[in-house]
Amino acid sequence: MPTLWLDEIGADDLERVGGKAASLGELTGAGLPVPSAFVVTADTYRSFIEATGIDEPLFEAVDVDSDDSQALAEAAERAQELILETDTPPSVREDLLAAYDEMGDEDVAVRSSATAEDLPDASFAGQQDTYLNVSRTDLLQRVKECWASLFTQRAIYYRNENDFAHDAVDIAVVVQQMVDAEKSGVMFTSHPSTGGPTAIIEAAWGLGEAVVSGAVSPDNYIIDRETGTIDEVTVADKKVMCVRGEDGETIERSVPEEKRNERVLSDEEIHRLLEVGERVEDHYDTPQDVEWAVYEGEVYLLQSRPITTIDDPEGSAGSANEAESQPPGAKSGVADGGAMESQSDAVRLSGIGSAPGRVTGVVRIVDKLDNLDKVEDGDIIVAEMTTPDMVPAMKRANGIITDEGGMTSHAAIVSRELGVPAVVGAEDATQKLRDGETVTLDGDKGTVEKGTKVPETSDEQEDAGPVEAHSAVKPMTGTEVKVNVSIPEAAERAAATGADGVGLLRIEHMILSTDKTPSRYVEDHGERAYVDEIVEGVRSVAEAFYPRPVRVRTLDAPSDEFRQLQGGEDEPSEHNPMLGYRGIRRSLDRPGEFKLELRAFERLYDLGYDNVELMLPLVTDAEDILRAKALMQEVGIDPEKRDWGVMVETPASALSIEDICEAGIDFVSFGTNDLTQYTLAVDRNNGNVADRFDELHPAVLELMRQVIGTCREHDVATSICGQAASKPQMVDFLVDEGVTSISPNIDAVRDVQHEVKRVEQRLLLESVR
Ligand code: PEP
Ligand code: MG
Repeated sequence: MPTLWLDEIGADDLERVGGKAASLGELTGAGLPVPSAFVVTADTYRSFIEATGIDEPLFEAVDVDSDDSQALAEAAERAQELILETDTPPSVREDLLAAYDEMGDEDVAVRSSATAEDLPDASFAGQQDTYLNVSRTDLLQRVKECWASLFTQRAIYYRNENDFAHDAVDIAVVVQQMVDAEKSGVMFTSHPSTGGPTAIIEAAWGLGEAVVSGAVSPDNYIIDRETGTIDEVTVADKKVMCVRGEDGETIERSVPEEKRNERVLSDEEIHRLLEVGERVEDHYDTPQDVEWAVYEGEVYLLQSRPITTIDDPEGSAGSANEAESQPPGAKSGVADGGAMESQSDAVRLSGIGSAPGRVTGVVRIVDKLDNLDKVEDGDIIVAEMTTPDMVPAMKRANGIITDEGGMTSHAAIVSRELGVPAVVGAEDATQKLRDGETVTLDGDKGTVEKGTKVPETSDEQEDAGPVEAHSAVKPMTGTEVKVNVSIPEAAERAAATGADGVGLLRIEHMILSTDKTPSRYVEDHGERAYVDEIVEGVRSVAEAFYPRPVRVRTLDAPSDEFRQLQGGEDEPSEHNPMLGYRGIRRSLDRPGEFKLELRAFERLYDLGYDNVELMLPLVTDAEDILRAKALMQEVGIDPEKRDWGVMVETPASALSIEDICEAGIDFVSFGTNDLTQYTLAVDRNNGNVADRFDELHPAVLELMRQVIGTCREHDVATSICGQAASKPQMVDFLVDEGVTSISPNIDAVRDVQHEVKRVEQRLLLESVR
């Protein structure tokens, strides 16, 4: 049968109908309100390509070196053309149209449902494979477009990179009654962190895409399922909504003024949703994350998946800061401030606590030349300073201690992103600690103690009550809260924070980890390989976040970091690298190298990563930006079509903001690490003046205030991605001033979300008092 109705399908039919359809079939079978649909099975796709004889040319066409962008583009075009231009066999056509007529001859939604379970479908079916408002005339073409979505450049590239055979992946298509939702959202049927009987509903106007993609901050409702009481109602300022466009695509529109701050769900609707949610949870016998819509007063279920964030009841509530009892040698995250019994001497060393958590492990002293293999799971790395080639060992380690470095050093950034507790700047750790001894490190307090610290299994811990503000529920905020990423290895972890995107992806680590300067790398391996190195690193982050935006910054490493690499002897030796040859200055001085970076962006866009945004570092004025823009155009990037912007890190750029806005940028992002050092004349790497490094200094804040004001007038978004984004006072200041987004480090995302919410609520209250 080319098609099956949802009531003929269950969870066991995954291979025939794909994950999306199998789940909808299962819900329909359980009597839940799912919009009616039929599925064009995977067998139908397979017999289409076989019966028409296009299977062989199709798989031949995509058998290319996907690192060859030209070949990849041609392969995708050829494969899609084969599918789109081949007629469907008459029997399939008749069956599809008959099923369409049976559903009621109304416009439908057509969605692909991929069958390779172990591949995330977004990765290879793309996000464009949903068509709304499809008429009878267009049905067959849309189904074929879903089939063809198996062969986008991004999908081919992804399968090649992951060694998945192209002919082992099939695709089914769901043809479903349109639910032209008036309101929609998601619901956790139980508490997503504890699994307790608390339901959480998020709701916004229009189609659900706005909520799922994070384009809008939805209303948030918390319901006690035991008593049925609605405990908390947070009404968000809902600026945008998704609606059906004339051509059937989903378009974003402003919410009419009077509805922006109106509550989306009535008490009655909440209770109806809850009842449906409870039935889904009962059916699967496990808490569910449900997508729902309300259409003509009826509640519909669009999708349901098990909640995967619920913690093991024996374990902790999930945050690195929370109580957890673990034997020495295993990764642990023992609570700071929790009841502890020390078997150790007093504090042996102190430094800067740069990645939170308290851990115990065996010391392994390493330097760059050492064999890193000696670091085993659960060890504590002790080094003068970490380098990019230590990252694999850092991932295995329980903790990291370095002699040198501050909060923005390599060790601090990488350990935070990997979630490995760290103390940096501990001065003589490599001298004072002995290889093989056991120590306990506290990444919050910045201390290192000898021996093992075990948590007391006392009542005190239970009495301490629930850990506040670290729940897995993302607080809904009008100001976006993004996350910074510096190593691609941290992509999944960063994406799992629920951040609204990446506010800063540094590419320096991708280059430095090759251990070669850009020019040496190109000399040794060629330009293509250099571009690939960047594409590969950025791609994994863009993929993990898709479709959330990822702001990728072009190269900004000071010459002293390049000097340590192979080829470093050709780099300038500078008296003060912080004021020297770095950021956009270096890029404009070396347009050849810079254009290779830009080509990597162009390649990512071609691969379908339209969520990638380009950001230029350390600009002085509009002149820098216009020169960079011309180079972007030279490599084929259309600045009108892509989102791009600049870091505001110099007082000059802050004071030239009017001209900078007029250069055509979409956003600015405050790099407060640099903005502070240049405003206060305090070298961020100089310990002698470290006590003068104050991002909250009134002079720094005044520059930021002016920039936000001017950018608002020019409709340019504003953001912060410096270390100060994690500071509550900075968050308060920026939300008050009307910043668009805040991008802290991974470990601070949840706290910043709560802080932003608190300030927004205060502002809301003040406005009505
Ligand atoms: C900054 O200067 O604040 C910033 C985010 O950039 P970096 O730390 O990479 O210089
Ligand atoms: Mg900077």
